[in-house]
Amino acid sequence: AKEAGGAGWRFYDATMNEEVSERLALRNGLRQALERGEFVLHYQPQFSLEDGTLVGVEALVRWRHPEQGMVPPMRFIPEAEESGLIVPIGLWILREACRQAAAWRTAGLEVPRVAVNLSAKQFQRGDVAADVLEALSAAGLPPTGLELELTESILLRGADTVLDTVRRLRGLGVHLSIDDFGTGYSSLAYLQHFPVDKLKIDQSFVRRLGEGGDAQVIVTTIIQLARSLGLGTIAEGVEDAATAERLSALGCLQGQGFHFARPMPPAELAVLLAGRQRA
Ligand code: C2E
Ligand code: CA
Ligand code: CA
Ligand code: CA
Repeated sequence: AKEAGGAGWRFYDATMNEEVSERLALRNGLRQALERGEFVLHYQPQFSLEDGTLVGVEALVRWRHPEQGMVPPMRFIPEAEESGLIVPIGLWILREACRQAAAWRTAGLEVPRVAVNLSAKQFQRGDVAADVLEALSAAGLPPTGLELELTESILLRGADTVLDTVRRLRGLGVHLSIDDFGTGYSSLAYLQHFPVDKLKIDQSFVRRLGEGGDAQVIVTTIIQLARSLGLGTIAEGVEDAATAERLSALGCLQGQGFHFARPMPPAELAVLLAGRQRA
């Protein structure tokens, strides 16, 4: 038994080493990817559930890996956050999304707003307000053309500096939404202090909406909460027409999901937009 235990330990050790070296490789890969310009942004349209108009697009990062092809964010964002590399990567994302949004405007394509995801680390380590201002002015994009998707953890664990940043940005006309709303914390107190525009209902609730039950209660409650606080609502992960109709009937204002459109490269979005504008 003792020998088996020993072997077990060695095995465990080897697995740990493997995990550590995999993470180091990923970390180095991310650093190189940033230098070599391997990150790309795809954009997923967001629509009004009332009249079907395009209200914005969400920028979603991908890593165009030379050997592995398109790597989805779930495979590298956690390590980017852990290592702090999300700060320079996030800055690139912000600048690129603003640049693209301004380019669409110049081309006469109507994208009212581009939404960018922010990580808690960017607030801890960097000066988000300064970065946003710099990205907007470098691109020549008005603040009202940008939306920032914040998580509950940013607002809840946030110090006074987060509150200052959020107030400053909102004062400029940047839109703010709370991503994955309902999944993070049971406390809603932060909603009193943070001037946000919109709650983004998490897809885990949206996808189970058809089953009725808890998901339906939660979605209904979030929509009512938003309405009484004077906030907008967007549902993410809308995968079929029935869900879109249910959401609309419940009073949800906007929707995003595979039912409407998948995230797509900018050239594809331009084609979709040009088609809609001609129609
Ligand atoms: P998220 O911010 O909640 O983004 C929504 C995710 O849901 C996206 O996955 C999108 O492709 C996916 N999605 C949209 N509609 C549907 C649908 O109808 N059905 C299903 N099953 N999925 C749908 P993606 O692009 O893989 O991004 C995953 C997560 O990675 C994001 O979740 C976000 O947390 C993170 N992420 C992506 N881009 C960025 C970024 O630029 N910065 C930061 N900090 N995080 C990002
Ligand atoms: Ca998001
Ligand atoms: Ca989300
Ligand atoms: Ca999410």
